Amino acid sequence: MRLNGILLPHKKRTEYSQTKILSLPERVKICMSQHMGAPCVPLVKKGDLVKVGQKIGDSEAFMSCPVHSSVSGEVVDVSEMLLANGKTCKAVEIQCDGQQTMWEGIKPPHINDKKSLVDAVRESGCCGLGGAGFPTHIKLNYDENKVNIDSLVINAAECEPYITSDFREMMENPEDVIEGIKTIRDLLKIENVYIGIEDNKPKAIEKMKELTENDGYIKVVKLKSSYPQGAEKVIAYSATGRIIKEGSLPSDHGIIVMNVSTIAFINRYIKTGMPLISRRVTVDGDAVGRPCNVNVLIGTSLKELLEFALVDFDIMEKLISGGPMMGMCMYDMNAPLSKTNNAFLAFKAKSASKLPLLYKGQTNCIRCGKCIDACPLGLMPTELEKAYDRRDREMLNKLKINLCMNCGSCSYVCPAKRSLAEKNQLAKGFALSK
Ligand code: SF4
Ligand code: SF4
Repeated sequence: MRLNGILLPHKKRTEYSQTKILSLPERVKICMSQHMGAPCVPLVKKGDLVKVGQKIGDSEAFMSCPVHSSVSGEVVDVSEMLLANGKTCKAVEIQCDGQQTMWEGIKPPHINDKKSLVDAVRESGCCGLGGAGFPTHIKLNYDENKVNIDSLVINAAECEPYITSDFREMMENPEDVIEGIKTIRDLLKIENVYIGIEDNKPKAIEKMKELTENDGYIKVVKLKSSYPQGAEKVIAYSATGRIIKEGSLPSDHGIIVMNVSTIAFINRYIKTGMPLISRRVTVDGDAVGRPCNVNVLIGTSLKELLEFALVDFDIMEKLISGGPMMGMCMYDMNAPLSKTNNAFLAFKAKSASKLPLLYKGQTNCIRCGKCIDACPLGLMPTELEKAYDRRDREMLNKLKINLCMNCGSCSYVCPAKRSLAEKNQLAKGFALSK
């Protein structure tokens, strides 16, 4: 059996450019909601002095992880900020002092078992760096009495066009990837490790194979380049052959799925104790003069990053955070960088109109069935659209709208340019609202 999917153009012109470092900004604005789950509560107030790596936000909620300062300087404001999804949350604004003084508490964590690993990963502020932002410590903190984890799947598919930040992690820091895998594997006593990489990244496959040839339990799996190969359920199936059934999690099937950049970060944190205060971001698109991968401090204004990448603001029509299939349009160029931002894509008007998330001029459905063939989960996007238009909650549930992961494959293949994935997102909210 093979899950459906679509073939997308490779378009990864930043794959062989070494990661650059963005210079220290004058100010950063650090948002308290950078992960899936409950936002943090600021631990600092206006006038406080902070250092690099100091915790400035935390929460007692189960689904949350702390936020740290990426700079040293003075807190000049703690205010409400508007997020790209329309919600608001608190943000801490810091005027940098230019010294980048390290917080005294930075030291490698003492880790010798699962509990100390989970605690340390929480303290590091780590959440999924592939874009989803799921707090990593929760994935690792499974209940051994309920699930038997025997497989760790490293998600290195990076299936969206343009984005190369995970690829660069494997090329620039391959030892961190492998050491991170070994540490987690040993502490959690996991039998098998699968590193899933699409076959359009032969250099990464080669590098990972080279570093694991003596480790029989680590298997580098060459995955077919088929979008959305990097979706959690898809890669779990492609790597292990196990189907993540409706309503269940990978852990219910003995699997933990972790993004490749996340595992490399955890390794660096274990070695240094420096929490998550920066990340690699791909900047690309046809309005970008210098397509690149850049290491950016969390909280840096997006505008500074775009200027560094020589984005031509006069011709830029759309700015997207994330990939062209599942990304989100940005309305504010002064928005601060967050932990989950793996890419920003700046497009001219003509190319923006070809992106499925920005399709215009839809025509009637011609019942070609292409959207059904494309859906990796076997859903019926055309029927879901009709059910949502009728606001038929019962039918939406019958058609399993809850399974839709908004991958955009259905919209991409639709010859009538119907905004199917966008409708599905609305439909999901509607079906869950009662
Ligand atoms: S957006 Fe939803 S319905 Fe459309 S292809 Fe992806 S999973 Fe299927
Ligand atoms: S791909 Fe578009 S035109 Fe074809 S059946 Fe689906 S919604 Fe209709």
